[in-house]
Amino acid sequence: MKRNFSLVATVLLSLFLLVGCSPTKGTQTTAAPLGAQVTYSRTEVITSSDQAKQLLVDGNTRFASGKILAKDFSSTRRNDLIKNGQHPFAVVVCCSDSRVPPEELFDQALGDLFIIRVAGNVITPVELGSVEYGVEHLKSPLVIVLGHEKCGAVTATVAGGEMPGSIGAIANKIKPAVAKAKTTGVKGDELIEKSADLNVQNALADISNSPIIKHAKSNNQIKLLGAKYHLDTGLVHWFN
Ligand SMILES: [Zn+2]
Repeated sequence: MKRNFSLVATVLLSLFLLVGCSPTKGTQTTAAPLGAQVTYSRTEVITSSDQAKQLLVDGNTRFASGKILAKDFSSTRRNDLIKNGQHPFAVVVCCSDSRVPPEELFDQALGDLFIIRVAGNVITPVELGSVEYGVEHLKSPLVIVLGHEKCGAVTATVAGGEMPGSIGAIANKIKPAVAKAKTTGVKGDELIEKSADLNVQNALADISNSPIIKHAKSNNQIKLLGAKYHLDTGLVHWFN
């Protein structure tokens, strides 16, 4: 026991000498990653679609360049969101793919994004209801459908064949995009990426058909945009 304590003390002393400063200061220096000195916590309510898009563009630029901001996850912030309610500035429909987490790739924090994640970013009545809730009830000024490169759901649909369980229900929603992509004559990876892009367009069309969304659009309350996340660069490319 005594020996273990001495070992810990020796390690601590070595670290102390190594950083050449007080233990507290050394901990702060090593614990704060570069570019994370600014703690991000949005307090204003965003009502402009253009401002909402710009926040996503700026956040993605930070993410892709490795300069993400520190986030406020404190109890003060959490309680503030309980007391004042949530006012997410964007509704994001996105694939479940673990490499495409919206909060991270748009560098946003608690209370910022209302996210609907489903394999293949498809829209069924359940997903549509969530989008409508974000627009009608939470008053988000921006709705985006975010596709991504090398989507497994799209790739599996292009490959075809039997799908176990309920996976086929996802493929059935993606099939029209694949059929349309095939008419352009593209093959291989190009066919997969073309199908993914058309699948985003189909999801946008499904959302546009909602009377609630139509009403919000006609009142200029929201904008509805498509985008695609590129796995290698970390950048989101906007369709419109
Ligand atoms: Zn995917």
